[in-house]
Amino acid sequence: MSLRSFEERSVFNQLSQCSHQKVVFCSDEDTGLQAIIAVHDTTLGPAVGGVRMWSYSTEADALQDVLRLSRTMTYKAAISGLNLGGGSAVIIGNNRTDKSEALMRRFGRFVRSLNGTYIAGEDLGTSPRDMEYIRMETKHVTGLPESLGGSGDPTPTAAKGVLMGIKACVKEQFGTDTLAGRSIAVQGIGHVGENLVHLLREENAKVLISDINEDRLLKVARKYGAQAVSNNNILDMEFDVYAPCALGGIINSETIKRMKCSIIAGSANNQLADETEHGEMLLEKGILYAPDYLINAGGLINCYSELYGYSRKRTMQLAENIYSATLRVLKKSKSENIPTHKAANMIAETRIADIRNLKGAY
Ligand code: NAD
Repeated sequence: MSLRSFEERSVFNQLSQCSHQKVVFCSDEDTGLQAIIAVHDTTLGPAVGGVRMWSYSTEADALQDVLRLSRTMTYKAAISGLNLGGGSAVIIGNNRTDKSEALMRRFGRFVRSLNGTYIAGEDLGTSPRDMEYIRMETKHVTGLPESLGGSGDPTPTAAKGVLMGIKACVKEQFGTDTLAGRSIAVQGIGHVGENLVHLLREENAKVLISDINEDRLLKVARKYGAQAVSNNNILDMEFDVYAPCALGGIINSETIKRMKCSIIAGSANNQLADETEHGEMLLEKGILYAPDYLINAGGLINCYSELYGYSRKRTMQLAENIYSATLRVLKKSKSENIPTHKAANMIAETRIADIRNLKGAY
């Protein structure tokens, strides 16, 4: 590695490029724990965000991931009208072979040391069981199983939010939000994707699905009366709405050229490979993009409800608000001729600034 690239990836260089309130490095020799907790912004409330356990190639990659994830959480909470800040944590290691009760509980003690500034939740590589271990050490954890008074599986709420985002975009593009007869392609029919297919079929939409898991694909197609299509060709096909529900980075220069849809609205995180470049490309091509962090906020809404007294009805109501929040973003994007993700960022930033500047005694 050259000196220049080393400097670019140095911890302080990475930290200087963002505006996080606090970044905590956690290390414990006995359990092998190596983790980073990032608190991006707590203006609106405690920083909530998932704990990701992943075999990062380098520590710089882990730091970059946690800084990016925690920032997104700030924007997600702000635009969804939740009184939460943004945070995130990463544990460096293989989530199948390196995880243990002791390691998760040791991590829980680091969370406890932050006195509620950061509230941990589930993410890639961690499970409700891991949240139980963290709970043994601190109350600052969410996403617990229903049996422990938690909110349980967040994916039905996440899918509901995505449905609301799709409906708002359909309303904007076609003048009515009815989905009957609209063709919608869901790529990735895992936890959120399958729930979304269910909701879309209930609305009598024509649903195309693809996944790298062939067995699952055929099973979900049969169960909901969806059309299974090849994952390699799905982007070349004609349909109204493309709902990416698998991996991030799927919207890039190559895929945008192939797209024939009017709307992109799915659950996957970080869909735009490059926010600025690809946001602009979509605007120029007339494809309406529902900002991912806005319409996939259902998972966070579930956690929010859990923190403030869980009620299924209230949670679903909050997820339904994603419809009006999306319309607001689309309106701003249209009136200012700016990409939708930029409009969303601006609305989120304004809310945070307004609350930060609140004056007056309690
Ligand atoms: P999941 O792992 O249950 O499902 C992902 C599905 O995508 C799997 O069926 C997998 O086979 C498939 N897949 C993987 N790579 C693919 C590819 N290249 N092409 C097509 N299919 C592929 O995950 P999930 O919980 O359903 O989450 C899906 C996405 O939504 C993720 O990006 C996640 O970060 C995001 N998200 C999830 C939640 C939640 O509550 N689970 C909330 C908000 C956002």
